[in-house]
Amino acid sequence: MILLFAFCFFFLLDSVVKKIIQQETIVAIASAVVLNQGSIGIIRLSGVTALEITQKIFKPQGKPSWQSHQILYGYIKNPDTKQIIDEVLVLLMLSPRSFTREDVIEFHCHGGIIPVQQVLELCLEFGARLANAGEFTFRAFLNGRIDLTQAESIADIVGAKSPQAAHFANSGLRGKLAQPIRKMRNSLLDILAEVEARIDFEDDLPLLNEAQIKQDLQDNLTKVKHILATKDQGELLRSGIKVAIVGRPNVGKSSLLNAWSKSDRAIVTELPGTTRDVVESHLVVQGIPIQVLDTAGIRETQDTVEKIGVERSLKAVSQADLILFTIDATVGWTQEDQEIYQQIRDLNLILVINKTDIAIASRMVKYPIEIKQVVKTAVAINQGIEALENAIVKTIHTGETIAQDLDIAINQRQAAALTRVKLALMQVEETIENTLPLDFWTIDLRIAIQALGEITGEEVTESVLERIFSRFCIGK
Ligand code: GDP
Repeated sequence: MILLFAFCFFFLLDSVVKKIIQQETIVAIASAVVLNQGSIGIIRLSGVTALEITQKIFKPQGKPSWQSHQILYGYIKNPDTKQIIDEVLVLLMLSPRSFTREDVIEFHCHGGIIPVQQVLELCLEFGARLANAGEFTFRAFLNGRIDLTQAESIADIVGAKSPQAAHFANSGLRGKLAQPIRKMRNSLLDILAEVEARIDFEDDLPLLNEAQIKQDLQDNLTKVKHILATKDQGELLRSGIKVAIVGRPNVGKSSLLNAWSKSDRAIVTELPGTTRDVVESHLVVQGIPIQVLDTAGIRETQDTVEKIGVERSLKAVSQADLILFTIDATVGWTQEDQEIYQQIRDLNLILVINKTDIAIASRMVKYPIEIKQVVKTAVAINQGIEALENAIVKTIHTGETIAQDLDIAINQRQAAALTRVKLALMQVEETIENTLPLDFWTIDLRIAIQALGEITGEEVTESVLERIFSRFCIGK
């Protein structure tokens, strides 16, 4: 049976291997190309003819040995027109000591669009083909240089929106998820072998050590649950949350965003907003990327038709994960606050009572609503921002406790597979409990083994691979 598993794995992978013609040498621009920006542009070649192509288009200074792990200096020259294209550094990383385990060569050109494009075109002219998105990483996976969790970590590093997200992605790249997954899979394969041996050669073997198997299953189940607990953290770090600041005019919404963006704890990225109606800012708070929607922007442009503005802002904020409902402590709860509250009461709210620096104490606490999270701020003098951040983090961390000791944060695909492992292991336990025949044990053991193999890529279908690698950019 185990042989059958191994066969399935090779069969699946083999069909993938056939599909991509690894004989082809691929090329892509590996660095971001922006006009007038970026001092270095990198073109990356990988494949059997990478060295041959390089030797045709690159004129090195001196007489290099063309051995691996050298940096060569020289010029890219079109051998047909004899035109010099750029002055470059060339990195040689020959098989198997490279990212893809094939011959990999990088040209470090001057940045900008034209030299990089010209070098790319020369490589294409001399036999390379343009790489598909993620194809370098895909080849690294197919050639056994990395497993699937590591490939996903690479995409996560590139896409990380916070230092914490990058930290977890780095852990994944170093195999911190793959190791326990492989260990569990091996342990379940051992159990399966024990059980199957009893099915095939019942009379020749000692009785199954049921107590030991139960214990092993329990240990694996505990581990699975522990890793699954990192899913919420992973989701948060990858996607972040949307927070909307809502309130009537003049309560201090813009001032709040302003103070928040300038605080040391927030890393602000100036990204263009996706909607013109609402001003968007991107912050990172305690490692969580936060997209802040400031609805104050609407009012400024729609001065005369304020009601329409409010309606539009409410529509925008209904998409938010969390609302910072802001009121003015100097005037207390007003009819207008009440009206806004009526429309957002079903959303996830934090009440922000602002301007506490100039408020008369008695007015500060009166709000006729029941609300769990209340934060007092005086954003004009930078007070209360930290408390607000703590309240936000507390509000969104309501799920399972974070398995911080693991140093990993799984993604949705991994979580879905692990959930299948969890259910299958629970089913095996039940099967044993109900003293069902050994054949029944093997059914769910196999499901668990298969799901674990999907996480690391030992057992994986083409469609899953396609979905994973399509997330990558060209040149990765
Ligand atoms: P928005 O219309 O809700 O965006 O409110 P603004 O941020 O434009 O603030 C309205 C006015 O209140 C401005 O004059 C701010 O300087 C002032 N303000 C905002 N927050 C505070 C605060 O915490 N304390 C004090 N004293 N004034 C504030």
